[in-house]
Amino acid sequence: MIEKDYDIIIIGSGAGGGTVARELSALCGEGKTIAVLEWGPKFRDEEFTGRELQMANKLYFESGGLLTEGREMTCAFGRGYGGSTMVYTGTSIELPEHVAERWAVPGLTYADIIARTQKYKQENNVHILDDNLINENNELFRIGCDKLGLNARKFPVNIKGCLGSGACNMGCPNQAKQGTNRVQLPQAEQQGVEVVTHCRVEKIGERCVEAEVKTLPLGEPPSWAPGRYLIRAKVVIVCGGAVNSSALMQRSNLPVSFPALGRFFTCHPALTLVAQHDKPITNFYGFPKTYYCDDFEKSEHYLLETCMYFPFTTAKNIASFGPEHSAFLADFTRLQMILVLASDKAIPENRITVDDDGNPQVDYTFTDDVKKAFVSAQRVAARIFFAAGAARVHVPGASIPVIEASMQDKIDELVTMRELRMGKIPISSAHMMGGCRMGRDSSDSVTNGWGQVHDIPWLFCADSSLFPGSSEVNPYMTVMSLADRVAEGIRDNAGTLLAA
Ligand SMILES: Cc1cc2nc3c(=O)[nH]c(=O)nc-3n(C[C@H](O)[C@H](O)[C@H](O)COP(=O)(O)OP(=O)(O)OC[C@H]3O[C@@H](n4cnc5c(N)ncnc54)[C@H](O)[C@@H]3O)c2cc1C
Repeated sequence: MIEKDYDIIIIGSGAGGGTVARELSALCGEGKTIAVLEWGPKFRDEEFTGRELQMANKLYFESGGLLTEGREMTCAFGRGYGGSTMVYTGTSIELPEHVAERWAVPGLTYADIIARTQKYKQENNVHILDDNLINENNELFRIGCDKLGLNARKFPVNIKGCLGSGACNMGCPNQAKQGTNRVQLPQAEQQGVEVVTHCRVEKIGERCVEAEVKTLPLGEPPSWAPGRYLIRAKVVIVCGGAVNSSALMQRSNLPVSFPALGRFFTCHPALTLVAQHDKPITNFYGFPKTYYCDDFEKSEHYLLETCMYFPFTTAKNIASFGPEHSAFLADFTRLQMILVLASDKAIPENRITVDDDGNPQVDYTFTDDVKKAFVSAQRVAARIFFAAGAARVHVPGASIPVIEASMQDKIDELVTMRELRMGKIPISSAHMMGGCRMGRDSSDSVTNGWGQVHDIPWLFCADSSLFPGSSEVNPYMTVMSLADRVAEGIRDNAGTLLAA
């Protein structure tokens, strides 16, 4: 085994890892050594081809289709330099105040989260989308909401120089999204942080990690030779994303046991509804996600967002078969889409575990609240489509797969709890949260409000695994904000933590 020594090791380079790396990079100027170990490759700009299946296989963990143990939901997250920020859409929302209050983490205030969020809004060029990038798929959502008296809000987004290719979730081919791969990681590297790609951390030991570098024919070659490594560090920061951080911590035989480890996992389970118009609309080019409606967030616990997926994902999202299925897809340029995101509550039963080989497994049960949210959201989304002039709507959880405009007064009868058959309807998730939650002590959580693992002072988490419950909105801004806080805590205590 090849041995190496660093002051700080950061595991993962996504929203959390990229932020913490840049925030700690000033320590390199004081002679401290910092390495980011990233499982995936660093893709070259020309490798972002925008081809759907090719990109799913290259950029996502398990091609974006990690199935829950009950085979009822797929979980999508990125693997590579920048983590899921390579493939996110870049909608940039602040954590609502009531969520921070519900989290009730000792010492962590809403004001603190928001002050840090503001910093990343500026850094990532967050702004309201220019009108010329809003296509009809999005505009029809606004029109439908207006007609029903619902409030369609414009998303703040973090793009710069968007050419409207619509390929955000396949990794932007024009480098327009301001993910950590474009902003924070290059800055960290300039300051002296080493980023080692193709490097999977297998285990955390006492002030060290075991990792393996394997070269794949993807992206830039790694800076370390292929092989197994033992890397000693004074501080280890886990930023593998909620699923992989939880799995890594469980594989690691830590000296303290945490009943909450892997538990209280939330993920905003999502359903996509697809409507067909009588004539073509602009849909697959232009920015895919412009509007959202949070009118039902507090009362019924869901958000409605515009979205546009490419043919393979759309085929997967439509829960019918045969000629009906083909007819929808054949008319791709006439399709309009709405994404339903349920705000799921953190319950201990929903958790990440590991199999015999140490690979993550997601045990997830849909609560009645989530099912109720799906029913209500599908009814409202169907009405928005019809108000916008759609001819028919594909509703995954309805008694018939396609509701024609002439049947719209029957929506409530067609979309019911009884018809919501989990495992039969295509549910996906892209917002993994929790598993190493912040809290009071090791009886209720894994870390304190500064991301420091209880009773293991050299070990930190700084990613979405820290969330004590769901963020109830798109989460990446809050991930960056919390990672910024973890970095500040480490910087402030560097004298003790990094002492020889
Ligand atoms: C398709 C998609 C669209 C999204 N759109 C939005 C959006 O518009 N707005 C929003 O707010 N959020 C969005 N999100 C969610 C957002 O991207 C995530 O919440 C955020 O990136 C999570 O940050 P993280 O640091 O926890 O994990 P990630 O960003 O996923 O990074 C984790 C990194 O750790 C690496 N890693 C894992 N395990 C190991 C290991 N053992 N050794 C070494 N490296 C490891 C992984 O390869 C990965 O690169 C989206 C997500 C997806 C998948």
